[in-house]
Amino acid sequence: MSNEVESAQVSDAMEVAQLSSLAAVDSHAGSCEAEMPSRLLNDAVRSLPYHVVKDLLSIGVCSRCVLRILGTEDHIYCHSSFSQSMLCSVLEEVTGFKSECDFQFCSVCLGVLQLIYRDDKETLVKMESPNDMALVIAELVKKEGHQIDGFSLEVSIPQFILENESSLLSGMKKRYESEPWLQERLLSKCVSVKDVLKFAITKPLETLLDTKASASSFRIRLAYTHKMAFGNSVERNQGFKRRKIGTENGLQNVNDESVVANKDCSDYPTNETIAVTGRSSLKVPIDKVSEPCHLVYLCYRTHIYLCGRYLKYSRNVSQTRWIIDEERMGEASVEEIIGSNILPMCRGDNYKFHAAGREDIDVRMLGSGRPFLLEIQNARQVPSEETVKEIESKINGLENKLVGVKNLQVVGSQGWTLMREGEAEKQKQYCALVWISRPLEDEDVCSISLLNDMQILQKTPIRVLHRRSPLERKKIIYWMKIERIAESSQYFLLHLCTQAGTYIKEFVHGDFGRTQPSIGSILGCRAEILQLDVTDVKMDSE
Ligand SMILES: [Zn+2]
Repeated sequence: MSNEVESAQVSDAMEVAQLSSLAAVDSHAGSCEAEMPSRLLNDAVRSLPYHVVKDLLSIGVCSRCVLRILGTEDHIYCHSSFSQSMLCSVLEEVTGFKSECDFQFCSVCLGVLQLIYRDDKETLVKMESPNDMALVIAELVKKEGHQIDGFSLEVSIPQFILENESSLLSGMKKRYESEPWLQERLLSKCVSVKDVLKFAITKPLETLLDTKASASSFRIRLAYTHKMAFGNSVERNQGFKRRKIGTENGLQNVNDESVVANKDCSDYPTNETIAVTGRSSLKVPIDKVSEPCHLVYLCYRTHIYLCGRYLKYSRNVSQTRWIIDEERMGEASVEEIIGSNILPMCRGDNYKFHAAGREDIDVRMLGSGRPFLLEIQNARQVPSEETVKEIESKINGLENKLVGVKNLQVVGSQGWTLMREGEAEKQKQYCALVWISRPLEDEDVCSISLLNDMQILQKTPIRVLHRRSPLERKKIIYWMKIERIAESSQYFLLHLCTQAGTYIKEFVHGDFGRTQPSIGSILGCRAEILQLDVTDVKMDSE
């Protein structure tokens, strides 16, 4: 009996032992990922010149900046799980230096790499690790409803963080001139504040957004600004020069009575001052930074473009919105019909319409249609090929049948370049309804059709003289064809193909002799144009 009890106890004990060893394995596996970078970090810190680390820490340079400026290998300090306090304790432990003064904000990056900033509500925010910052960004992307398949991360920082850094670096070069590590580390491996932040945030952000950082039209922007960026004070500069420098290590002693935190950040000294006072001591332009940067997170999509060709079936629709004295010309515009149908499908903020050339409001655009480009601003979603087809059929199925689209597709920013290049129309084909003052003869039909590549001279038409300079232009009429209208002797359809830029209405009626020859002069009678359609536009790129 007792044996049985004993064996039960033994087996219990074994189970406990097994469980705890499992747990040990488990916790080992869990921490492995975090442990590896920690070990690498320790190794990296051990290889640093300790006296320089101390010098930098003692003038309020943050741990990430210390590691960055000293060119720590493989950006290990950018690891997203490292908190500022972890980095700091590793530095202090390894180098055996304890910073006596508590610097709230780094004297070089002004808190950017300490992940401290003021948000848009002026609240002081302190992130533990880059992971936390990535979380905030991911939330924003979600809140704004962006559908993304990549992102590009941009960081902008105040210019004087760079100035700050370059003055510190030049001070370091002077001070440690003769030390061998200098060439190897300082000059070649210092990574910028921006890049460190990007390195640190990108990985966790890729995980959270479930997509890769790429050259995407979707941008995430961290815009840092600092009120110190505005204005310098001469008085303060002089104060800088006067102040005694040098403790035993030649560094500015931050506990020195003369060093008081700047209350007014506009007291930022110029580089010149630093150069004068720099000599062989190490210092940063601001002895104690009293304010961190202001940070605004932005996410937006750079313009996306949809291109295609439009058709205009109405003689009462202008190409773009056309308002004269608060009165709309025509019943609608191509721009509005296309834009208002595409914009909601991309969930953008706004759109801009561009077309290659234009036709008069009373001229229909048929046949192949006219190329256009629609620019969508801050689209939350880039429409799929399927959605584009849907948009196209939606516009083409509109009840009023004013406008149609063809070959609608999403294009990259090259769409704009293509559009510009192709903007030069080469040839245009028209169909005009013409009336003449005498009955049309078979000979007329024949003689007109024989006129190929005919050159005409056009003076700027009277109707556009108020906005075009008076010039005489040579244009070519490539071919013409008359189509009779049944049971009508004085009305006919004139099909013609002309060089781009020909004024067709004037070519028909002659514009009081300002266009020579004209249909009127060729047929030896009065000719009037009643309706005009564009039936084909050939672009330069075709
Ligand atoms: Zn820093």
